[in-house]
Amino acid sequence: MDRFAYLLTEAQGLSREVLGGKGFGLVAMHRAGLPVPPAFILSTAACRRFLQEGEVPGLWEEVEAKVAALEGLTGKRFGQGEGGAPPLLVSVRSGAPVSMPGMMDTILNLGLSLEGVGALARATGNPRFAWDAFRRLLAMYGEVVLGERAEVFEERLSALKARRGVRTDAELSAEDLEELALGYLRHLEARGTPFPLDPWAQLRGAVEAVFRSWQNPRARTYRRIYGIPEDLGTAVVVQAMVFGNLGEDSGTGVGFTRNPATGEKGLYGEYLRNAQGEDVVAGVRTPEPLERLLDYAPGLYREIEAIAQLLERHFRDMQDFEFTVERGRLYLLQTRSGKRTAQAAVRIAVEMAEEGLITREEAVLRVEANALPGLLRPAVDRERAPKPFLQGLPASPGAAFGHAVFSNEAAERYAAQGLPAVLVRPETTPEDITGMYLAKGILTARGGLTSHAAVVARGLGVPAVVGAEALRVYPEEGRAVAEGVEIREGDLLTLDGGTGAVYLGAVPLVEAQGEALLAKLLAWAEPHRRLGVRANADTPLDASRARAFGAEGIGLCRTEHMFFAEERLPWVRRLILAATEEEEEAALSALFAFQKEDFKAILRAMDGLPVTVRLLDPPLHEFLPPWEELKAKAEAGDEEAQALLERAQALREQNPMLGFRGVRLLLLRPGILRMQLRALLEAAQELRQEGLDPRPEVMVPLVADPKEVERARALAEELFRVYGPIPFGTMIETPRAALLAGEIAPLVDFFSFGTNDLTQMAFGLSRDDAGKFLPRYVEEGLFPFDPTERLDEKGVGRLLRLAVEEGRRANPRLKVGLCGEHGGEARSVALVAPLLDYTSASPYRVLTARLAAAQAGLKEGVAAG
Ligand code: ADP
Ligand code: MG
Ligand code: MG
Repeated sequence: MDRFAYLLTEAQGLSREVLGGKGFGLVAMHRAGLPVPPAFILSTAACRRFLQEGEVPGLWEEVEAKVAALEGLTGKRFGQGEGGAPPLLVSVRSGAPVSMPGMMDTILNLGLSLEGVGALARATGNPRFAWDAFRRLLAMYGEVVLGERAEVFEERLSALKARRGVRTDAELSAEDLEELALGYLRHLEARGTPFPLDPWAQLRGAVEAVFRSWQNPRARTYRRIYGIPEDLGTAVVVQAMVFGNLGEDSGTGVGFTRNPATGEKGLYGEYLRNAQGEDVVAGVRTPEPLERLLDYAPGLYREIEAIAQLLERHFRDMQDFEFTVERGRLYLLQTRSGKRTAQAAVRIAVEMAEEGLITREEAVLRVEANALPGLLRPAVDRERAPKPFLQGLPASPGAAFGHAVFSNEAAERYAAQGLPAVLVRPETTPEDITGMYLAKGILTARGGLTSHAAVVARGLGVPAVVGAEALRVYPEEGRAVAEGVEIREGDLLTLDGGTGAVYLGAVPLVEAQGEALLAKLLAWAEPHRRLGVRANADTPLDASRARAFGAEGIGLCRTEHMFFAEERLPWVRRLILAATEEEEEAALSALFAFQKEDFKAILRAMDGLPVTVRLLDPPLHEFLPPWEELKAKAEAGDEEAQALLERAQALREQNPMLGFRGVRLLLLRPGILRMQLRALLEAAQELRQEGLDPRPEVMVPLVADPKEVERARALAEELFRVYGPIPFGTMIETPRAALLAGEIAPLVDFFSFGTNDLTQMAFGLSRDDAGKFLPRYVEEGLFPFDPTERLDEKGVGRLLRLAVEEGRRANPRLKVGLCGEHGGEARSVALVAPLLDYTSASPYRVLTARLAAAQAGLKEGVAAG
């Protein structure tokens, strides 16, 4: 016959999957000789069986036997309170294999009947305590098992206190609590859900309610969001009660073996005297810091401290544990790996490795690579900050403080005066780049975590809050309004890019710490990394920043940003307007001079390392002023505006993303391609003459057919014959290019997967518009995650694998990289690490990419060498 119930002593060697996290921790603590109240565990298999068949054969016989065992271990008696033994009360606790809020709450003090209350009063000599235990049981059971609202019990308690003219529960007498409890009983009866006075019926009701809570909507939603399998089931812990509310020498508390905010080694926690577990959570009374125990119970403090050390040695990780003290005796009720901030995670991992508690490899694997960028910037001190006045999405971590500005021009004015600014926009477009660059922070009213503002802010390493829906921005009027507050240019704002909170004025910040620790962790990680890590960088500043973070070159240098700068736009516009070859030639040669200088500066910053330049990608009309502005100027008689308006009309597209851009534009306006490539080749030539070692590479965007590559390559070869060849590659960012990779590969030296466009085209969605439905899609479980943020393994990943395989087969010397936003996202990097030669990430994400690639290497068994 199957077995479903295990005493702590019988459960040794069983897994977390069988015992649930809570049961597993209790068994381990018991085994380590720590004081744990006697308990038995019903396995997750019992839950699965119950949910499938509505009952579990043999379960109740087993439970009866285990309760008898608890009676033996405690010398107390479960049931109707006959005999002289004090009543055995138990807690019924849920515990899934993975930590999962949303499951059933714990029920305490279970096993009391009316006779039992009397027996408990006699056994403890404390009738008030006995009635208090009973009224707590009724309220908890009434809520959790019988489905009454918690407020109903709260209201009755408050009403009683008001009638007695007292403020706290502690001032109520035994008689008061008896009256309250009897009132609860009558209420539940009248409601048609009578409380079972038979303790065995209570136990059965509670256990089955825990089983059923696996299926409640909160728990289901949580599992869907975090990808937890539906068929795990929950275990149930039935444990003898110990009482923290038996007087001043009793109490209950929570401890951490290291500080979960900073990672600092040493006991940290809170304690509440004369209280039962749920009082801490209910927040009725404020707990005191654990160190206070040193004043009045130093022996107890030392005991907890020793236990904390033992727990860490046993579990080899920072532990978060719960305990209760009954009349001076300490009992442990729970332990688990503690949640921690990114900063604490790094410190704990490095220090534990240095203490010899874990290996360096384990330390490397324990830190969440996606959290690294936030470590290097100051953050809002959340404990001392006031309530935020506005909430948006946390797009780029770190705190920013500055004067509100609404335009590039204002950002420049503040920068010129050396004043920090926060750029506030309805949303951002490529035209806002100057302001975004100069600002200390970026705030937008619209757009999601992959909006232009978010992507660019992360690239620049500027803290940002986006999609603050309550915000209305009027850039022309130089003001914004939110929650009834008007913000004008110059007003001070603080953003928390890690939480999405926006504050008026200045709030306390904490400086970035732990750079040295992070450097150490990365030094341990690096030898296991096989995947190359480059950066997406468009400026010399970005390039040197990325290099400082350890980038091994540039995987994507976008050239269009260079066209936006103030003194160049007029030439770009002349290029667009050119009616004759001479006019085009004049515009191109002006732009040539600018581009050559840009390329020289970037190649200089990346001297000795590869720099992959992507030729012009966006459609030309992006370089024209906004439609409305042109129209107004044209109507006012401006002739240039009139001409531009006509061109804009001609260039206008329904669907620019799928329009006249990338290689299509470069092939039909080859002058642009020649100008850009010649600028790059001459830049390199001049640097070589200076004795430097420039390593330019060039690639064409948006290819869909081998013919396009062939034609572009032929154009490039004309220049290679003059200047000497450089690596020539293509982006793979249309599904068709991925499918025809075998035909394209022989024509190029490298592929670079543009996973932003590849994702958009594979899914048929645009990042700019997806904000309207993607978040809901994820919430509803239609997509497991947002594919614009994290690489979709099944679809986009399949295209990628196919292109790599067929590409390499057709051209064994082909190099393969990735340069989308995914290139700096840890799970995506892990996915492509075994497939590609390099990934390319925005400068601040280079650290994430390095760590994630090393973690992937460790898992693949790349040995340090
Ligand atoms: P959660 O999953 O919410 O942490 P627990 O099952 O740990 O719920 O129970 C919450 C609290 O109830 C515990 O921290 C402890 O204070 C109290 N508690 C649970 N079981 C017992 C027990 N056997 N004796 C005394 N207190 C208990
Ligand atoms: Mg707990
Ligand atoms: Mg693209």
